[in-house]
Amino acid sequence: MRPVLAAGLAALILAGCVIANPRYNPEKAHHRPDGFVNSDPALSIGTFPWYEILQRRLRGDFRPLREPQGGYEAFAAAWSVPVDAALIRKPAAVPRITWLGHASMLLQVGGRNILIDPQFSDYAGPLAILGAKRRVPAPLRADALPPIDFVLISHNHYDHLDAATIDDLVAAGQRPRFLVPLGLGPWFAARGITDVQELDWWDDVQSGSIRFRLTPAQHWSKRTPFDTNATLWGGFAVEWTPPGSSTWRFLYTGDTGYSGDFKEIRRRLGAVDFLAVPVGAYLPRDFMRPQHTNPDDAVRIALDVEARQALGVHWGTFELTQEPFDQPPEDLAAALRERSLPAARFWMMKHGETRAIPLLSGSRDP
Ligand code: ZN
Ligand code: ZN
Repeated sequence: MRPVLAAGLAALILAGCVIANPRYNPEKAHHRPDGFVNSDPALSIGTFPWYEILQRRLRGDFRPLREPQGGYEAFAAAWSVPVDAALIRKPAAVPRITWLGHASMLLQVGGRNILIDPQFSDYAGPLAILGAKRRVPAPLRADALPPIDFVLISHNHYDHLDAATIDDLVAAGQRPRFLVPLGLGPWFAARGITDVQELDWWDDVQSGSIRFRLTPAQHWSKRTPFDTNATLWGGFAVEWTPPGSSTWRFLYTGDTGYSGDFKEIRRRLGAVDFLAVPVGAYLPRDFMRPQHTNPDDAVRIALDVEARQALGVHWGTFELTQEPFDQPPEDLAAALRERSLPAARFWMMKHGETRAIPLLSGSRDP
């Protein structure tokens, strides 16, 4: 019986490894019968054998090489401010952004409150023991947010899609529409959330003067051992066109390596007014380069999309990778100096900080 049982189990596990892609469209270059690929289909990310991941974990590839100068508490104090709760409840005359740590942002534009990749938990992972530890407290909880109109989810990694945070939003009475990449609808349906719209790359959703669009990124997806790249990943463009005015364009790249996707986004959509781009989780470089930008890559993307103003995100919150928490600001400053760009062109905000984004006149659309 035993060999039969073992063979049966092996067959089950193998079957579990191949999940058919119900969104498969053979006419789309990034679709596959079992999931999705990047714009460069030869680039395989997320398919590392388990023993390589284990070896890297044991040797310390996924935790910082050292504490930040002065320790984590000093870092958290230096890089946090209390959220201005009264301010974020007021309508924004000009677009306004609040950095909520890691890749979580509140974008307020055109009368809409748009929450991006909310993650307010103490760790990012399926279980605390397997998760990346939070080192700077979340600046707010779900019940302190103004009424949210849209939640944008870039992909299903635990540092971007957090079950506890989503449940807390619903428990706090929030009833937003969720815009998610292809294949993520069932995850929400299983939690009883049905106001969810799945988007493919370049798909758009219009809501009054605001248009949302899912944009390509060079990354991957995974939540279980059996669903690598089964659901899509991407970034979001948010375009605001007030009556009689030119379009103001926000782009959040999502997690991404540097790729040709950004010149293509610029070509198709036009120049970006405000760019949010990851500047953290980039070491060790041999492992992270295809999937996570370092500050120098982030500056290249800002130039590719002709960003008037950029914001560095995806750093300083969770212990995900080797670079110490205080390294991204230094590496970013060096990358800007190297290209003779002013430091002010690239914001590094504090957890909880809100800034108005000045509107500059003159359209640069093609
Ligand atoms: Zn990711
Ligand atoms: Zn991430």
